[in-house]
Amino acid sequence: MTDQPRRPTSLAVLTSGGDAPGMNAAVRAAVRTAIHRDVPIHAIREGYQGLVEGGDYIQPFRSVDVGGILHLGGTVIGTARSDDFRTPEGRQRAAHNLLDRGIDSLVVIGGDGTLTGADTFRREWPDLLAALVADGRIEQAVADAHPTLFLVGLVGSIDNDMFGTDMTIGADTALHRITEAMDALHSTAASHQRSFVVEVMGRHCGYLALMSGLAAGANWTFIPERPADAATWEQEMAESLRAGREQGRRQNMVVVAEGAHDTDGNPITAKRVQQVLEERLGEDTRVTILGHVQRGGAPSAFDRNLGTLCGHAAVELLLQADPDDEPQLIGIRENRIVPSPLMSNVEQTRQVAGTIADGDYDRAMQLRGGSFTESWDAFHTIVRAEPREPAPNARKLRLAILHGGGPAPGMNAAVRAAVRLGIDAGHTMLGVKRGFEGLAAGEVEELGWMAITGWTARGGAELATSRIKPHQAPLGTIARQLHKHDIDGLLMIGGWAGYEVAHALHTGRDRSGLDLPIVCLPASINNDLPGSELSIGTDTALNSIITNLDKIKESAVSTHRCFVVETMGRECGYLALMSGLASGAERLYLPEEGISLADLATDVDWLRKGFAAGKRLGLVIRGEGADPIYTTSFIHSLFERESQGLFDVRESILGHIQQGGSPSPFDRIQATRLAQRCVDHLIEHAEDGGAGSAMSGLQGGRTTFTDLGDFTELRHETAERPKHQTWMDMRPIAHVMARPELR
Ligand code: ADP
Repeated sequence: MTDQPRRPTSLAVLTSGGDAPGMNAAVRAAVRTAIHRDVPIHAIREGYQGLVEGGDYIQPFRSVDVGGILHLGGTVIGTARSDDFRTPEGRQRAAHNLLDRGIDSLVVIGGDGTLTGADTFRREWPDLLAALVADGRIEQAVADAHPTLFLVGLVGSIDNDMFGTDMTIGADTALHRITEAMDALHSTAASHQRSFVVEVMGRHCGYLALMSGLAAGANWTFIPERPADAATWEQEMAESLRAGREQGRRQNMVVVAEGAHDTDGNPITAKRVQQVLEERLGEDTRVTILGHVQRGGAPSAFDRNLGTLCGHAAVELLLQADPDDEPQLIGIRENRIVPSPLMSNVEQTRQVAGTIADGDYDRAMQLRGGSFTESWDAFHTIVRAEPREPAPNARKLRLAILHGGGPAPGMNAAVRAAVRLGIDAGHTMLGVKRGFEGLAAGEVEELGWMAITGWTARGGAELATSRIKPHQAPLGTIARQLHKHDIDGLLMIGGWAGYEVAHALHTGRDRSGLDLPIVCLPASINNDLPGSELSIGTDTALNSIITNLDKIKESAVSTHRCFVVETMGRECGYLALMSGLASGAERLYLPEEGISLADLATDVDWLRKGFAAGKRLGLVIRGEGADPIYTTSFIHSLFERESQGLFDVRESILGHIQQGGSPSPFDRIQATRLAQRCVDHLIEHAEDGGAGSAMSGLQGGRTTFTDLGDFTELRHETAERPKHQTWMDMRPIAHVMARPELR
């Protein structure tokens, strides 16, 4: 890196290859970050073809040009396959077009083909310039002024098939589309006791097939990385599905990745699976090929935010790049936005396809990473019609599950996974109704293998929950009930109130004589729990908020309107910040920062200036716990009173819609993953008594266990949220996205 940051004359951004939801967020973020940094930026329409054609395909973009696009699927600047760009002549024209506009820095968004093309272009750049000088098409001075093409790549692809990022932009939305379709098929399949075979995208990558299978409760799946045994798969699948029917399962659902094949390399198509089911089971079997539906629709909250964070990071990186730096790819790894060398990522991505072609499937699974293999194993346990035989002489534990705090989507998916994985490991799983209140009343019953069938897609909490706090909870009675039912370990899947009671039971164990491990699994839409960066239910709530915000924005009949919207979250601003980022809100009021009269005066002044300068729609989000006095109604009245007729104001308090609804695929998958780890933890620490008590969590992309005794230390002194919240680092980005030029 040089000491002095580079000042490119202009940047450009393009999208290429297959379109992916979330690309618009990335383009918007790149444009607004460049403008924030006072560097001009161009958008190139129709991908590399536009770059080769030049002319109006390459346009200077202002902040306003990327307004109102966050919620749109696909890419508004267009994408195309370009054969011209594959030729040196085409790339020479492309270089000329860039130099004509003083551009030598590119943000390229696409799949591995796109990124390979970009790298070739960058490597050839000096030769292309020399040829342009030799032909007299550019001056030597122009070539000298731009000796290097600076390049940053972002991965827009629904397949989630790239190295360098744990998630590609678009994959989460595709999972939403697939899961919605599979949920819909489930109900019709169950009504008729039918079988459905669903084909999803993924030529070399089984991510969509495996994760949608896990999320939607499919009963069998085929992926390219783990081919089914050519000699036995037909019989194995048929036997497993038949056994499920015998146990009372009303529907069978099989997911097939489009690139699935057997160990001999024969394709396993949806049609073939249908034939097998009809021949071997005599089942009425229907095939659904989801096709391009998977690419479409409004991007999920995750993809909007991933696109925004990556687009922002790409421009920041370009502005600091040194000519000797390797080009980088920006992705998300372990829940952090990070750069890594572009071409080694592309090469490793290609390696997986090569490894599958060579038949080295163990290596292919290894290259996909640990959580992929773990998900594969969990899937194969959960879909069994019956548990495996327990090991002889193994100790049979009695593990109880209950909820605490408000309901959170994904709680049922967590219970389902915990019950099946616990029983399969040879233990008795007990469900407690109505949380700690129900436990005090002895509402404990055994949950069998089939008791939780169909729970994965259900919102709310089938076991019911209770918000009882420690000072209201009869801790002695609870301890006696745990003794009475001979419980060896307790899994509390819930939110703040549940954590507090679990902690009180844990710290009071000397008095009560209750000495067993208690594990808390974070499930709360508020994302306010210590020991985890993310809690189950938050993603569903975020998606519900942004879907409603999209509608609220569309309802604006007046062309000069500001909406003041209140989100849930209690004393934690996560939902307000992340929904603000994902919906393009201009101002956010968070409990962590509070609201002052001076803030409100500045904001109303800023709104007046914005509307006077041509702004048409404003969106302000207030987290419910932001301030006890400056309520949403107060802000509404204040803004309206002070608008000087430049805009009108409407308020909307979103309320309980945020807590309900079918859980998002991400919440179902994370719930399954965490529940698996929590059950393992309880089994492993059953002998340790209270010393095994922990808060489980997802931190830096990993599953972690933090001593439950640290709850007081990790929580904020007065507010119900953790002391340290990593997501607060995203606060400045939301500020940059809110029309930098209007400040
Ligand atoms: P994706 O980016 O989704 O993988 P493609 O493989 O179709 O999609 O690539 C998109 C475009 O990138 C191609 O149409 C072509 O213009 C360009 N491209 C791909 N591979 C190369 C390459 N090896 N050299 C130059 N350009 C390439």
